[in-house]
Amino acid sequence: MAFQVARRKTRTCTVGNRPVGGDHLVAVQTMTKTKTHDVEGTLKQIRGAQEKGVDIVRVACPDEKSANALPAIIAGSRVPIIADIHFAPGLALKALEAGIQCVRINPGNIKLELVRKIVDLAKDKGAAIRIGVNSGSIMPRKGLEVKNDMEHEMADLMVDTAINWCETFDKWGFHNFKVSLKSSDVLTTVYTNRRFAKETDVPIHLGVTEAGMLQASTVKSSIGLGTLLGEGIGDTIRVSITGDPLDEVDVGYEILSALRLRKKNVEIVACPSCGRDEVDGGVETLARQVQERLKDYTGNIVVSVLGCIVNGPGEAAEADLGIAGAKDAGYLFKGETILRRVPNEKLVDEMMIELYKLEKERAAAGETVASKI
Ligand code: SF4
Repeated sequence: MAFQVARRKTRTCTVGNRPVGGDHLVAVQTMTKTKTHDVEGTLKQIRGAQEKGVDIVRVACPDEKSANALPAIIAGSRVPIIADIHFAPGLALKALEAGIQCVRINPGNIKLELVRKIVDLAKDKGAAIRIGVNSGSIMPRKGLEVKNDMEHEMADLMVDTAINWCETFDKWGFHNFKVSLKSSDVLTTVYTNRRFAKETDVPIHLGVTEAGMLQASTVKSSIGLGTLLGEGIGDTIRVSITGDPLDEVDVGYEILSALRLRKKNVEIVACPSCGRDEVDGGVETLARQVQERLKDYTGNIVVSVLGCIVNGPGEAAEADLGIAGAKDAGYLFKGETILRRVPNEKLVDEMMIELYKLEKERAAAGETVASKI
């Protein structure tokens, strides 16, 4: 049997039309980087993320202008929206009145009676709440001198705080919530989420906050989120990148697909190249061409791109189609079978011809086919 991550058992939290936790696939989230009151710009980013397969999008809601834009954003989005609120209970109430599917609040920075008001309104509206506890918002106890102790104390305080809020929400008869325990430190993220996962059945949103630019964030998130997801912990994720939100979705899918928790619709299995690479311009060029040609493809495909045929097509036996460079003419193969040799400059065109054929075979077999190639 194939290796598979055993997911932690949780209750389900429903964000609009997207259940989170339980047996549901780990959701991929991103956050828009536009001013939320710029409805057109925000919807453009949301739709771009939708094309990439995002499940839920969070938008900042720092002021009245942003809250006023929410009805148009909700109406224009196919995926559920989370309004991100800090210190402003009035905006959380306004977002819920506007029909937002979820509000993200840190209840610790809102007066208790107003937290109750938000919870009651979320319950009336059928909305979800994400309880967000960040290391930055937790105050260390006085008198702690050793830095390492302080780290542990802070981390435990984060978990205790989150558990406390979960118990309060449950006591108030509201159960449609999930929790995030975020830190910019990978080890703190792993520790707090592990402990929280062990002590509750509440769905968890995972993220390493302020993870940096694309490369740094990809590494930090892959280690932090990957460690936890590999242990079955985490029901929804966001990779925070200082940059394009579409990259956040792509990297999120890469992490999940590496752990077989989600399947990307297009997976390119490319070799790293070496001195045997026979592709004109190198295998990276070829892999980029394949990626570009498949960017609008909506079906499911795994394509292997190899610099040479040294290990034979068996190297990429799990791919649906494959191409491998060779002197003058490369190889085109389907599964483990070599179909033909093709001049290097025509490899990608010929691969697309085989993709059309594959789609026809899938249609004849009654399988789901791509709506766009
Ligand atoms: S497939 Fe060929 S070119 Fe690519 S890494 Fe392996 S030996 Fe090198």
